[in-house]
Amino acid sequence: MVQVNATAKKQIAKRDGITVPNVPTDITSTYLVNLFNQTKTCIYCNIELCNFGRKKNSKACDHIIAISKGGQHVKTNVHFICEKCNMIKRNLLEIDFINTKLQNLLNINISSN
Ligand SMILES: [Zn+2]
Repeated sequence: MVQVNATAKKQIAKRDGITVPNVPTDITSTYLVNLFNQTKTCIYCNIELCNFGRKKNSKACDHIIAISKGGQHVKTNVHFICEKCNMIKRNLLEIDFINTKLQNLLNINISSN
């Protein structure tokens, strides 16, 4: 059974300026720091991530399935991606986000030809 870890939730909320619902989690602050440090590239756009600042390639904590869509604040649903992808993804499901990115790529390629 997962336990509520208020510290981890507050860290994410403070970092990303979001409100994390008071939901059960198995995420500890140590896990979050390790995940942050181990993540070097964005899995969606493969850009190299930087640790600090609010740049396009800054690390942003993302819920793979958004909390607002029923996702949980647990290890299997949290990862770090780039700020740019996080801003586009918002609360989209992963498949919808990827489809959006692909559509944008197609539009760019069509317009550049
Ligand atoms: Zn990205």
